[in-house]
Amino acid sequence: MTITDDQQDRLRELQKVFLEENSKLNLSAIRDPDAVWIGNISDSLVALDLEIFQEDGLKILDIGTGGGFPLLPLAICKPHCKFIGMDSTQKKLDAIGRMTIPLHLNNVRLVTGRFEEKGQDQQHRDMYDIVTARAVAPLNVLLEYGAPFVKPGGHLIAWKSMKVDTELEESLLARANLSCHLTQQYAYELPGDWGKRQLLIFEKLANTNAKYPREIGIPKKNPLI
Ligand code: SAM
Repeated sequence: MTITDDQQDRLRELQKVFLEENSKLNLSAIRDPDAVWIGNISDSLVALDLEIFQEDGLKILDIGTGGGFPLLPLAICKPHCKFIGMDSTQKKLDAIGRMTIPLHLNNVRLVTGRFEEKGQDQQHRDMYDIVTARAVAPLNVLLEYGAPFVKPGGHLIAWKSMKVDTELEESLLARANLSCHLTQQYAYELPGDWGKRQLLIFEKLANTNAKYPREIGIPKKNPLI
């Protein structure tokens, strides 16, 4: 996928405004400009390589968006898709809201709340073509958080390190109960010490059983295993 000069300029602006916000609030441990560029911005944009990201008009939910990754870089580069960033921490979403102004982003909406509640809300349940999640939870917990939002036939993308064998093994029950099928492991390499990472892509094959997600705190405290 080609990134236009205007998008490149706006990604640089994102690097700047993120660093400004991060110096006021503790959005992320990444504080060095190069590290923000590689570890946050480039890492987010890897999803653009995926077949499922090629269409326009997609409705995409980023769960646990925190300081806005992968939400903001993807929203800059996919202007014809609608993005929603969800997180339980209002001050982080407020910071993202401020960042969207100089970035001229009008395809981003922010929703405050817990996944366990929003996943049972008909406004969000089964609504999204793609759900993205980076650094949110182990796979078995993440699937319970994220799968309820995905349309049947849609996808969930998890940003992970290369060491996922145990997480994958421990997600077998979650994958079965939440009708999620692992369709692809997309490995990539970032420059310098960032090294090899991967995206795990799951397809949701059927509607989510009404009992998921369970009550607030239960998916994490008592993961499907
Ligand atoms: N995705 C961002 C990134 O990669 O930089 C931020 C990741 S941060 C480590 C995880 C975020 O998930 C936090 O901002 C936290 O508030 C949010 N989160 C964790 N569990 C949640 C839940 N059950 N409901 C809503 N938000 C949650």
